[in-house]
Amino acid sequence: MITVTDVSKVYQSGEVETHALKKINVMIENGEFIVILGPSGSGKSTLLNVISGLDTVTEGTIFFAETELTALSEREMTKFRRDHLGFIFQQYNLLQNLTAYENVQIGADIGQNPFPIDDLLGKVGLTKARDKYPYQLSGGEQLRVSVARSLAKNPDIIFCDEPTGSLDEINSKKVLKLLQELNTAYEKTIVVITHNAGIAEMADKVIKMNSGEIIELIYHDVKKDAQ
Ligand code: ADP
Ligand code: ADP
Repeated sequence: MITVTDVSKVYQSGEVETHALKKINVMIENGEFIVILGPSGSGKSTLLNVISGLDTVTEGTIFFAETELTALSEREMTKFRRDHLGFIFQQYNLLQNLTAYENVQIGADIGQNPFPIDDLLGKVGLTKARDKYPYQLSGGEQLRVSVARSLAKNPDIIFCDEPTGSLDEINSKKVLKLLQELNTAYEKTIVVITHNAGIAEMADKVIKMNSGEIIELIYHDVKKDAQ
C-alpha cells in the first residue's frame, strides 16, 4: 500500500546538516499494525512525517497505492491527507466545549464514508461517557475519544506519534492493545512510533531505526498467536 524508495531527508540549519533519513526503503501493507522503534533522534518522527506528507523528502519517492505523494503539491497533499489519513496526537486536541460524541462527530464530518459514531464509542468503551465533556473524563477516556475521532472519518491508515509517551509500560500496552483491536475490527493500517521496545512486541511488523537508517525489520505473527 505504501512504498518508500531510497528516501533521504537532510535538515539544513545554517552550516549544520542533519541526515535524518539515509536511503530508506520500506513497504507498509494494507491492514498491517506497524511500530517504528528506535532511540530518540533516530529519525522515527521524520519518517512518519514524510510518509504522511507533513514534511517533504530531500530525495526518493513515496507511493500510496498508485498515488505518488512525493509528486503532489502542498494543496493536493492537504486534500489527500484529509481524505485518506488519520492522526492521533500526543496532546489529544479535544474541543473542550463539545461532548465525547460531538468530538468524534467532528472526525466523522470530514469523511466521505464515515463510521457510525455510536459504534465507535462502543468499541473504545465510551458508551456511558458519550455525553460528557473532556474535563469530566479521565486521561484514558480522553485518549479513547481522540482515538475514536481519528477513526471516525474512515481513513485508510492511522498514524500515532508516541501516543503513549507519558505512560508507563503497562498503560502503554493497554493503549496499544486498543489500537490493535481497532486494527483487527476495522481492518485499518496503523503506524505507531515509540522508543519503548516492550510495546513493539504487539506489532505485526517492527521497523527498527538508528541514526537515520532501518537497522532491522522484525515480523511477528501476532494475529495467529492470539487464535
Ligand atoms: P526521533 O523521532 O527518532 O526522535 P527525529 O526524526 O525527530 O527522531 O529526528 C532525527 C534527527 O533529525 C535528529 O538528529 C533531529 O535532531 C533532527 N531533526 C528533526 N527535525 C529537525 C528540524 N526541523 N530541523 C533540524 N533538525 C531536525
Ligand atoms: P478509566 O478511569 O476510564 O479507567 P484511566 O485514566 O484509568 O481511565 O486510564 C485508562 C487507560 O487509558 C490507562 O490504562 C492508560 O492506558 C490510558 N491513559 C490514562 N491516562 C492517560 C494519559 N494521560 N495519556 C494517555 N493515556 C492515558
